[in-house]
Amino acid sequence: MGTPRTVAIDGPAGAGKSTIGALVAERLGYLFLDTGAMYRAVALAAMRRGIDPDDGPRLTQLAREIRVAIGPPTVRDGRAYTVLLDGADVTWAIRAPEIDRIVSQVARVPYVRDVLVEQQREMASRVRIVMVGRDIGSVVLPDAERKVFLTASAAERARRREEELAARGEKRSRSELLAEILRRDELDSTRAVAPLKAAPDAILVETDGLSVREALDRVLGVIERRSFAT
Ligand code: C5P
Repeated sequence: MGTPRTVAIDGPAGAGKSTIGALVAERLGYLFLDTGAMYRAVALAAMRRGIDPDDGPRLTQLAREIRVAIGPPTVRDGRAYTVLLDGADVTWAIRAPEIDRIVSQVARVPYVRDVLVEQQREMASRVRIVMVGRDIGSVVLPDAERKVFLTASAAERARRREEELAARGEKRSRSELLAEILRRDELDSTRAVAPLKAAPDAILVETDGLSVREALDRVLGVIERRSFAT
């Protein structure tokens, strides 16, 4: 296989991007960057300061003031990476349901995106990387050598989210999670700047009914150019 320097994995909420992306990165020995965590950190900062998630100017100001950083795990508690907000560990705080509810509004603000995209490109220029998000293949790294668009039905994504939360001891109803996933899909795919959509040269991988192992195998197949479609 010609080894790619950059692998872009995009797709909607709950499609398995983080799980698969982290495993792909481990397999290839690349850095893993979950860009969703960066948007979540900005949303957390907004929530803590009482900023309305629809207040674009204040969010723009906030993005100028805070510092978000992602790096290797600093604690062995099941995390795939550590997220720092102004130097404080917010790795788990950004997973709160309140953040799920506001993050897509925060991610609509063009300046918030500019700041984070610049950081993402800077990382990709330095190291071999597997980057996951919504706009990686289309906007952040349009020249990525491999682009995967990972997807699954909304029902399947809600089911997975429920399982993932249950594994962390959090109980949420499937119907509530489904409604939230549909709402985020809608906001993410209809926003003016960098909407969620597959890059024209991305390979679609459907993961309904696949185990993590099977989905990983398909994605590695695409990266190694063993397969071109699923
Ligand atoms: O991937 P995750 O669900 O953690 O992402 C949280 C939110 O961050 C998404 O719903 C989306 O609004 C935003 N996001 C984005 N662009 C990315 C990654 C995430 O707008 N590249």
